[in-house]
Amino acid sequence: MSILLNPKKYRDRNYPDERSKEIMLKMIDWFEKKGLAKQKEQYHAREFCEDFQKFVTEEGFFETLLLPKGYGSDPNQYYSTYRMYEFSEICAFYGAAYWYTFHVSALGLNPVLMGDNEEAKHRAAAKLKENALCAFGLSEKEHGADIYSTEMKLYPQPDGTYLARGSKYYIGNGNVANIITVFGKIDGTDEYVFFLVDSAHPNYECVQNIIESNQQYVAEFKLNDYPITEADILSRGQKAWDDMLNTINVCKFNIGSGATGIVTHSFYEALNHAYHRVLYGKRVTDFPHIKRLFCDAWLRIMGMKLFGLRATDYMRVANENDKRYLLYNPIMKMKVAMQGEKVHEHLFDIIAAKGFEKDTYFEQAVVELTGFPKLEGTRHVNMALIIKLIPSYMFMPAEFEEVGRITDNRSDDFLFRQGRTRGYAKTKFHDYNIAYNSMAHLPNVKVFMEQIQAYKEFLMVSGPDLAKQMQDFDYLLAVGELFTMVAYGQLIIESAKIEGISDEVMNQMFDLFIRDFSAYAVELYGKPINTDAQLEKILKMIKRPVPNQAEFEKVLNEEVYSLVDAYIQNP
Ligand SMILES: Cc1cc2nc3c(=O)[nH]c(=O)nc-3n(C[C@H](O)[C@H](O)[C@H](O)COP(=O)(O)OP(=O)(O)OC[C@H]3O[C@@H](n4cnc5c(N)ncnc54)[C@H](O)[C@@H]3O)c2cc1C
Repeated sequence: MSILLNPKKYRDRNYPDERSKEIMLKMIDWFEKKGLAKQKEQYHAREFCEDFQKFVTEEGFFETLLLPKGYGSDPNQYYSTYRMYEFSEICAFYGAAYWYTFHVSALGLNPVLMGDNEEAKHRAAAKLKENALCAFGLSEKEHGADIYSTEMKLYPQPDGTYLARGSKYYIGNGNVANIITVFGKIDGTDEYVFFLVDSAHPNYECVQNIIESNQQYVAEFKLNDYPITEADILSRGQKAWDDMLNTINVCKFNIGSGATGIVTHSFYEALNHAYHRVLYGKRVTDFPHIKRLFCDAWLRIMGMKLFGLRATDYMRVANENDKRYLLYNPIMKMKVAMQGEKVHEHLFDIIAAKGFEKDTYFEQAVVELTGFPKLEGTRHVNMALIIKLIPSYMFMPAEFEEVGRITDNRSDDFLFRQGRTRGYAKTKFHDYNIAYNSMAHLPNVKVFMEQIQAYKEFLMVSGPDLAKQMQDFDYLLAVGELFTMVAYGQLIIESAKIEGISDEVMNQMFDLFIRDFSAYAVELYGKPINTDAQLEKILKMIKRPVPNQAEFEKVLNEEVYSLVDAYIQNP
């Protein structure tokens, strides 16, 4: 059975309890009962998803999904990245607005859960029962990624309380949330602080929705001398700063799972349309270039899914001595979301005019996905993180116990106490060659390994000067894309083995990855600051896959085209 999400054949995901399965099935049922027509009507009316808010609140879904062990009313409560992955994928499969309200609720709640204020944690957990939607008040209009320049302030008062004054911009759910975590500074100091506000308070002013184009409410809000006491303060100083970064660390994971959900739905819709459309007496799916586009689109989605499942495992085993997630997580956010954009490019090329029609999921999905690589740090900001791990990942592997697929009921509590955010570049990884060697019998994996070797040689001839070259961000991005492919391929192989993906599929997937790697190498080759020694090594990275037409046709017919009409959303 396909590992891709198909809500009509929701397979048993090996959940350890009925509640987990119930959440996914009820959510799917709710969306399917609503149906595509109603969903599109609300989308075009830019209607805020109040119905979703009501449903998830009544069902207590966010309590189960977002709270770690020891909080909320369920004595068996646990936080599982695996469940988060599944739920995020399902919500995005039906619409980014639903996904977004869920995602920013996770972002909004996490500074409470990570903070030092125990009473506030229980208070927030109880509030979820009245309104599940939360908000994360970090960004400001003038400062974008430059969080150091935060202008929101708490003004100390003679009685020991504070008045909050300032404004925030781009804040999802800022119209309705009762739990809004706000990042600011104590006036007159450089001390950071995280505190709690409620959109229902009279001193909270929701100024506007700064977007007009879809259903999300992305608020500008002002705090007009909003009274704050110690009971509302979650963390201060360095801890507040670390909690802010760590919250984003945990939640950016949702971007990858959300993107996977979106393109999976787009894929079904595009495939069904193309198969049933007959031109010049032929199905559109029979044109040779369409076959290639569909196969590449499917292989990319499979890659996204396999990577995501594996990255989930590493999130779940994270601890003080195992922070490998610090690489896989930004890749989940950045690479997986950007792969989603590539999938849409392929599918849009296939279905052409159909992709503009107002009653399709596709026309909405294409627009909504473009936001994903831009949320929780742009591609550039995430690449700046990833690049720091090259020496450790490529040249200094460490030993780790093997990790299996983790779907059990352990609570991923470490994610709520990740600690200081420094020492990032010292993160250790296991040897990527273990995974690649295990599939070296596949001709295209072998070629890909030669590309990796050439990349390694490129790094070696570059020596310490590379760090200087990478001060040029344009150059850094090009070097980083190639590095990302190495780790991306590694986790996909590990995951494919667990899921029992066939050799044929994997060989075809690496056919695609060889082409991608070569394209990134050509991009790097064009950069003006390369040395002659670097240029020589970059040329060695440009390779062609080992062609195997029979295998391509087999994968296309048995895997990709077998999904025709496998999923059609209720009308
Ligand atoms: C739809 C939507 C919803 C959002 N929801 C929320 C929310 O709920 N809560 C919230 O707090 N925020 C939210 N945001 C804000 C989001 O996190 C910001 O987009 C992000 O902080 C980046 O800021 P910016 O887009 O203004 O880009 P800028 O910071 O202005 O960046 C401009 C360019 O400079 C580059 N750049 C900036 N800094 C660096 C660096 N250090 N290294 C390399 N390149 C750099 C960027 O990559 C970008 O290309 C949302 C944004 C959108 C679009």
